[in-house]
Amino acid sequence: MKIRNVYKARSIQSQLLKRLFLLFIIMLTGLGIYQYSSMKHYLYESKVKLLDSRFKNIDKNVILATSTDQMLDDNMRYILNQVSGEGICVAVINQNGEVLGSMNRYRGIVTETSKRNQGQVELLKLKPEYYTQVLQDGELSSGYKVVTDLQGKKQIIILRELGFLDAPIGLVQISTYVEDIEGILVEQVRMYIVAILGILVIGGLLSHMLLKHTLGPLKRMTNQLDQIDSEQLDLRVEEQNGQIEIDILASKFNSMFERLQIAFERERQVSEAMKHFVLDASHELRTPLTSIQGFVEVLQLGAAKNKEQLDQALNSILTESQRLSKLVNELLTLVKLEGHSTVELKEENINTIIQEVVPQLKVLAKDRKLNIEVEGDLYARVNKDQIKQVIYNLVQNAINHTEEIQGEITLKTKQIHKESISWIEVSISDNGQGISKDQLELIFDRFYRVDKHRSRKSGGYGLGLSIVKQIISNHKGSVWVESEEGQGSTFRFLLVSQKDNNK
Ligand code: ADP
Repeated sequence: MKIRNVYKARSIQSQLLKRLFLLFIIMLTGLGIYQYSSMKHYLYESKVKLLDSRFKNIDKNVILATSTDQMLDDNMRYILNQVSGEGICVAVINQNGEVLGSMNRYRGIVTETSKRNQGQVELLKLKPEYYTQVLQDGELSSGYKVVTDLQGKKQIIILRELGFLDAPIGLVQISTYVEDIEGILVEQVRMYIVAILGILVIGGLLSHMLLKHTLGPLKRMTNQLDQIDSEQLDLRVEEQNGQIEIDILASKFNSMFERLQIAFERERQVSEAMKHFVLDASHELRTPLTSIQGFVEVLQLGAAKNKEQLDQALNSILTESQRLSKLVNELLTLVKLEGHSTVELKEENINTIIQEVVPQLKVLAKDRKLNIEVEGDLYARVNKDQIKQVIYNLVQNAINHTEEIQGEITLKTKQIHKESISWIEVSISDNGQGISKDQLELIFDRFYRVDKHRSRKSGGYGLGLSIVKQIISNHKGSVWVESEEGQGSTFRFLLVSQKDNNK
C-alpha cells in the first residue's frame, strides 16, 4: 500500500497563535510550579517553627541534665507537659528507639465530630532503628518528616535530641497534622488554574487581534497579488507597508513583474513579427508559383504544340523558378542571420574584400560607371562572405535604380573617428532615382519595396536591405542611407576598425 504524504499548510496567524499559547502555558505552568513549591516550603517551614517553639518551652538545663536513662524517666512528665499543646502530639523516645511516653491534647471543644476531624493527633511510632539512626547521625535536628498515620492523615514530625549534644540520651518527637497546609495549597492551585484560564482566554483574544493587525500588510499584499495576471502585468503591489520584510518582499515581487512584463512584451513583439514574416513570405511565394501554374496550364491547353509558345512558356517558367529559388535563398539567409548561431569573425582587410568582388560587380554594372575609391589597408574583425554579401546587395540596388548609360556608382572606404572609437566607413553612392524622405526609414524593413512593380522586374523581394542590416548589426556596426529624390542615394555602413591604417 502506498503511503502518500499529505501536504498541509497552516496560516501564519494560527501557527503564531498556537505557539504563543504554548509559550503562555509553559511559562505560567513553570511560574505556578515555582510558586506552589515555595509556598509549600514556606508553610511547612512555619509549621516546623511552630513545633520547634514548643520544644523551646523546655528549660535548657533540663535538656542538658537529661543525660542518663534515669533522668530521662524523671524528666519525661515535665517535658511532655511543657511541649504538648492543642493539636500537637509529643512523645519521648529513649536511646533504644522505644517510645517511653506520649501526650496529645484535643483542640477546642471535644465533640464527636471534632474528635474525628481535628481532635487528638494520633501518636506516630516510627521504627526503633530509625530513631537510633537519628540519635547517631543527629539528623532531622533542623529538618522534618511527613508521614501518613494509620487514619490516613498526613503529619509533620520533628525530632529533637535530649542530653549532651555529642552524647544524646533520647529524642523528643513533636508532630501535628498538615491538613490545613494541604487545604491552602489545593486552594492556591485551584485559584491559579482559574487565573491561567483567564489569562489564556484574554491573552488569546488580544494576541489574535494583535496578530491580525500585524499580519494585515501581508494579507493586503496577497489581495493585490491576486489582481495581477498575464493580462494586467502593469499592476504593482504597494511597497510601503511599514514592515521592512514585507516591503522587501513587495519590491522583489514588483521587480519580478517588471521583468515578466518586459519578457511578455518582447515575446509578443517577436510572435507578431513572426506572423507578419510568415504572411509576407507566403504572399511572395504565391506569386511565382501562380505564374508557373498558369504557364503549365497554357501548355496543357495546346500551346506546347506551338514551338514559339512552348519556348516562351518554358523561359517564363525558368525565370519564375529562378526567382523562387532566389526568394527561398534570401529567406534562409535572413532566418540564419537572425538566429543566434555564431559566425566566425576574422581580422580582414576591408579594401581587399572589396577588390575581390569588383570583377563581379563590373559584370553586373554593365555600361554604368563603377568608381572604386579604396586605398591602403583597413582592418576589421568580420565574416568575409557576409561583408561581400553586403557590398553585393548595396551595389546591386544601386545598379537597379540607375540608368544603364548615365548611371554612375561609387564605392568608397575611409577611416573615421566617432565617439572615441575608430571606424571604417564604406559608402556606395549612385546618381539614380533616389528615395523619398518618407521611405527612408522603411526600406530596411523585410519585404518592403518602394515600387513593387519595378522591383519585381528587377527581381527584388524587399529582403536585400534587411539582410544588409542584419549582417551589419551582427558585426556591431550600423547602416543608414542618405538620399535626395531624383539626385541619387548614398548607403553607408560602419565597422569597428582594428588597426589604424595611417600609421
Ligand atoms: P529589393 O531586393 O526589392 O531591392 P531591398 O531591401 O534591397 O529590396 O530594397 C528595398 C527598397 O529600397 C527597394 O524596393 C528600393 O525601392 C529601395 N532602394 C534600395 N536601394 C536603392 C537605391 N540605391 N536607390 C533607390 N532606391 C533604393
